[in-house]
Amino acid sequence: MSQKLAGKVAVVTGASKGIGAEIAEQLAAAGASVVVNYASSKAGAEKVVAAITKNGGKAVAVQADVSQAADVTKLFAETKKAYGKVDVLVNNAGIYEFSPLEAITAEHYHKQFNLNVLGLILATQEAVQLMGPEGGSVINIASVVATLAPPNTSVYSVTKAAVVAVTRSLAQELGPRKIRVNAVNPGLVETEGAHGAGIIDSDFRKQIESQTPLGRIGKVEDIAPAVVFLASEDSSWVTGETLYISGGLR
Ligand code: NAP
Repeated sequence: MSQKLAGKVAVVTGASKGIGAEIAEQLAAAGASVVVNYASSKAGAEKVVAAITKNGGKAVAVQADVSQAADVTKLFAETKKAYGKVDVLVNNAGIYEFSPLEAITAEHYHKQFNLNVLGLILATQEAVQLMGPEGGSVINIASVVATLAPPNTSVYSVTKAAVVAVTRSLAQELGPRKIRVNAVNPGLVETEGAHGAGIIDSDFRKQIESQTPLGRIGKVEDIAPAVVFLASEDSSWVTGETLYISGGLR
C-alpha cells in the first residue's frame, strides 16, 4: 500500500460518520496520523479510530464543537499533545438544513453559518499555527450547491459559496507560507446526515440523478481519494482550486 502521507499529521473535523469518517480512514491508510474530531457521537468516532488502528494506522478521537472558539482551541491543543504538529486540515464538519424563503429564521441562518463558515475559519486559524516551515494543506469540503443552489437551500447554498470564496482568499494569503488551500464540492452523497435529512429516499434524489451525467448519487468512497490527493505532494502545485466530485452535476 502506498504511504504518501507517512509522517504527516491530519485533523479531520466531523469525522465520526459520513464523508469525514471515510476521509479519516483513507488519510490514515495513506500513512497519516489522524485526529478524528466529533461533536457528540463519541461511539462513532471511537469506531473510526478502531478501524484505523486495526488497519495498522494511528488515530485519536477528540470531542470539540467546531462552531465554538474555545472548543476549536481545545481541539488543536489536544492535537499538539498527541502528535506535536499539523500538516493537513480537512474542514469537513458541516450541517445542512433546508427551508423555503418564508420560513427562514435568524437561528436557521446563524446555526449553519456558525459551523460551515465561522467554524471552518476558526479551525484554519488554529491549524496554521501548528504548521511548520514546510507548509501544509487545508482541504475545505464545500458542496455542488455552492453554484447549483437548488430551491429551498438559499442559506445552506450560500454557506458553501462562502467556503469557496474563503478557499480562494486564504490560498493567496497562505501561499507564501507554502500552505495550500483547496475545496472539494461533492454532489449528493449517501451519508447518515443525508438520510437523516430525508434526502436519500426523496423525489429530490431522483431529480438529482436525472440531471447527473453519471446517473447516480455518490458514495463516501467517491470523495475521499480526492482529499488524499489534495493532502499529498501529488498536488504540490495546486492551490485555490475547487474540485467538483458530483458525477458531472454542477
Ligand atoms: P453527516 O453524515 O451529517 O456527518 C456530519 C459530521 O459532522 C459528523 O461527524 C458530526 O459529528 C460532525 N459535526 C456536526 N456538527 C459538528 C460540530 N458543531 N462540530 C464538530 N463536528 C460536527 O454529514 P455528511 O453528509 O458526511 O457531510 C459532511 C460534509 O460534507 C458537510 O460539510 C456537508 O455540508 C458536506 N456535503 C455533504 C453532501 C451530502 O450529500 N452528504 C454533499 C455535499 C457536501 P457528530 O455526529 O458527533 O455530531
